[in-house]
Amino acid sequence: MIHIAKPYLTEDEAKAAHDTILTNWITQGPRVAEFEEKFAAYTGSKYAVAVSNCTTGLHLAMIVAGVKAGDEVICPSMSYIATANSIMYVGATPVFAEVNPKTYCIDPADAEQRITPKTKAILIVHQIGMPADIDAFRAICDKHNLVLIEDAACAAGSSYKGKKIGAHSDLVCFSFHPRKVITTGDGGMVTTNNEAYYNRMKLLRQHGMSINDRVRHASTTIIFEDHIEVGYNYRMTDIQAAVGIKQLEKLDWLVTERRKIADKYYAALAGIDCIDMMYEPDGCFTNQQSFPLYIKKSSPINRNDFMQKMLDKGIATRRGIMTSHRETAYSTNPDFANLSLPISEDAADNSVVIPLYVPMDDADIQTVITAVKELLSK
Ligand SMILES: *Cc1c(COP(=O)(O)O)cnc(C)c1O
Repeated sequence: MIHIAKPYLTEDEAKAAHDTILTNWITQGPRVAEFEEKFAAYTGSKYAVAVSNCTTGLHLAMIVAGVKAGDEVICPSMSYIATANSIMYVGATPVFAEVNPKTYCIDPADAEQRITPKTKAILIVHQIGMPADIDAFRAICDKHNLVLIEDAACAAGSSYKGKKIGAHSDLVCFSFHPRKVITTGDGGMVTTNNEAYYNRMKLLRQHGMSINDRVRHASTTIIFEDHIEVGYNYRMTDIQAAVGIKQLEKLDWLVTERRKIADKYYAALAGIDCIDMMYEPDGCFTNQQSFPLYIKKSSPINRNDFMQKMLDKGIATRRGIMTSHRETAYSTNPDFANLSLPISEDAADNSVVIPLYVPMDDADIQTVITAVKELLSK
């Protein structure tokens, strides 16, 4: 069986977790602080705040951006559902925009025309690692006085115009779920250059507590914490952070390896007329978190039959990126019931992700290529 994805974990990560457990400091502490410092340095952002996962990071981003009940936030429907959910958590309404069919990233022109007096922010998604057009969205947000937030769940190690994702705007949320390029089991990080956002996110992720455990632990005089506002428990543990530090050291190498595999797919599958592959625009550098194929109407078999036939050959595939507005949680809500997004719907219904992980040996890459060619060439 060829799996769809595998995390890259070694004795390094196992030892880091082991050693951290034996220090007795297992939840948010020195390893989290070190991981934050290293992640900020890696991305070129001033600050990084570790959180329990990307979804909680997005929730904190909405809060510090000042998004409230009654506000609207523009985002793509075509994304993992956590993107839209993070807007719902603060009582605001996601306003779904279309994507560019070549990159699956949110389309700036379509997003701009959905701006209303209620719009507070735009939440862009770097789709499976492919950077969205950050500069275009920066210009739109400046023009309309909106906050720009990046759902970079899949985009650790990607870059845009020569700078790593994480460096461009004030709220960039990453995921370390095992399906992403680096993992801490579960986990997330928010990068920012804004000191006020940074301080408030640190407060909110730990119950709104004025003094963190490390400070209290090191103090030679008794000190009492205050809980300044209603916060959350969105902490990352030190065990996770210790694993994350090791994963971060390998991130650039992992991206290089992933791109080598992708290059083999691009070269071998280029001749198949009935598929489109993802397009990397100038200035964008993807970490190749996944490898999607778009299956055109001219294909001898449809997407679902292709997936079943691949599975019959022992090769796992997954449907492409979903649309949020057609999931029951949204389609049963009158705000979204009549929404039609033809480009996103077509892309979601006809795309499929094929296996890509590190290390993937050449024989497995060839098996995938042969199967795709056999099923999709006429
Ligand atoms: C994976 C993912 C998330 C959720 O990340 P978690 O760390 O699992 O909360 C959010 N948005 C996108 C685009 C994702 O791919």
